[in-house]
Amino acid sequence: MRTHLCGEVTEQFAGQPVQLCGWVDRRRDLGGLIFIGLRDHAGIVQVVVEPDSAAFADAEGLRNEYCVRISGQVRMRPESQWNESMATGKVEIVADRVELLNASAPMPLMMTDEDGEEVRLKYRYLDLRRPRMQRNLRSRARLYQAIRKSLEAKRFIEIETPVLTKATPEGARDYLVPSRVHAGHYFALPQSPQLFKQLLMMSGMDRYYQIARCFRDEDLRADRQPEFTQLDIEMAFVEERDVQDCAESMIREVIKDVLDVDLPAEFPRLDWREAMERYGSDKPDLRIPMQLVSVDEHVAHIEFRVFSGPASEAGSRVAALRVPAGAGFSRKQIDDYAAYAARYGARGLAWIKVNDAAAGIEGLQSPIAKFLDDAAWQGIAGSTGVQSGDLLLFGAGDWLTVSNFMGQLLVKIGYDQGLVEEGWKPLWVTGFPMFEWDEDSGRYMAMHHPFTAPAESDPQALVANPGESMSKGYDMVLNGTEIGGGSIRIHNPAMQQAVFALLGIAEDEAQQKFGFLLDALRYGCPPHGGIAFGLDRIAALISGEESIRDVIAFPKTTTAQCLLTSAPSRISDTQLAELHIRNVDKSE
Ligand code: ASP
Repeated sequence: MRTHLCGEVTEQFAGQPVQLCGWVDRRRDLGGLIFIGLRDHAGIVQVVVEPDSAAFADAEGLRNEYCVRISGQVRMRPESQWNESMATGKVEIVADRVELLNASAPMPLMMTDEDGEEVRLKYRYLDLRRPRMQRNLRSRARLYQAIRKSLEAKRFIEIETPVLTKATPEGARDYLVPSRVHAGHYFALPQSPQLFKQLLMMSGMDRYYQIARCFRDEDLRADRQPEFTQLDIEMAFVEERDVQDCAESMIREVIKDVLDVDLPAEFPRLDWREAMERYGSDKPDLRIPMQLVSVDEHVAHIEFRVFSGPASEAGSRVAALRVPAGAGFSRKQIDDYAAYAARYGARGLAWIKVNDAAAGIEGLQSPIAKFLDDAAWQGIAGSTGVQSGDLLLFGAGDWLTVSNFMGQLLVKIGYDQGLVEEGWKPLWVTGFPMFEWDEDSGRYMAMHHPFTAPAESDPQALVANPGESMSKGYDMVLNGTEIGGGSIRIHNPAMQQAVFALLGIAEDEAQQKFGFLLDALRYGCPPHGGIAFGLDRIAALISGEESIRDVIAFPKTTTAQCLLTSAPSRISDTQLAELHIRNVDKSE
């Protein structure tokens, strides 16, 4: 139907006849001339219909988003009318034929970034026509190709695992599918292919990958989707470093391939504890040149209980954040930051404005200055490297809580103050605790998932001291986003049983839920480990999009609905009966 793509008609085709298909991006009537921006997936080209052209009458009837075929000749535009921002900006097509392929009803959206998300999702097929969305989905497809190319070269094989399956414990609620054939029985949609990929290692597949859809019924935050895509990887006969090096090399190749960006030859590595100490986050954004500093030793002796208490207690800390040039913050700004920190558990936020660093305590402006002595201030000033014009913010209390809220503040202030540097800053975070204690349920929870191996190889050593145990888990972080996470897995049945027991999963429950895995572990299971990457997030990062919904063709809303198809929807009583489900909602 066409000889060229709209976006590819450049000056090299000047003088040639072309036939183009596409949509009317916009139509302008200018003193007898009609200009049409004709758009396809490759871009937009300007079409001119002159008054004496046979095509004129047809062109007059065109409206936005009409689908047309246009024949004409490529002509250079006069230099004064060149549009350097468009690939086709030096030419125009002089039309001799305008053929309407299909008219369009009036558009329900403006087809710009101004459109609200609700209308964009309802008319997603129209929204996707926009160049930005075209670009996003095409970069995503390139990302997939680059991943496959890299992993195939590393001798991975792509294997699909079931979508109708049994619950996998990644810590979210399951989406369930009732069985018609087996009354009262349900499939669960996989929260991840975790157990299948482990079984594939036991099957001798050696290196597996899959671009897998995962389903988690959780309360959705802005960047979550009930169904999302993971690049899932598993390898046999490996230790942590083998998986990390392989995954790191793959990410380096992929980012080079899709963005032509060279990531560092070796990603920095941070221990989880150190990451929390210095950045207050297990996914530090290394583009922000600020760090937290513990000042406990300098304030343990002062009269101010809010500091001296936590400074002297185990499991607590007093952390300082130096905000360069922050002494200019207004009282209101500081109050707002305190309120922000309170959302993450802060009970207060102490501050010091350093007006004159050379003047010692005299040079400070702060409600807490009166509690400081020279030793305390010299210690704080030395460890934070504070300079005149800076602001120091302090959090004091429980180590994890303080680290968390100070870390949140660090990022917020980093963005607010425009301190985030350009570029790509990956790192590994390792050395996670095996378990975290859950106050509400009064038991341990797996920090990763229950198949993650602990650092100790003896189950008894683990059971003796679970709170201190470190896992063989690791996360890959890029620009403050956790893009991947994985671990070395437990490959011996006694250890797996011990971990289930510590997590409060009784033996019969373990048997019922994961009996097949426990069985498989008994038949010469190789040591193995793996990782999974969040592909929606990576696609968003490479497209420069904030929201993963902008890199998913047909996403759900934050309330887990598809506005395009109106799913989820009610189903008939007949269908419910077939599935052995009683309709409890007869009220409407
Ligand atoms: N299954 C894990 C997850 O989805 C990733 C892994 O351990 O490989 O987070």
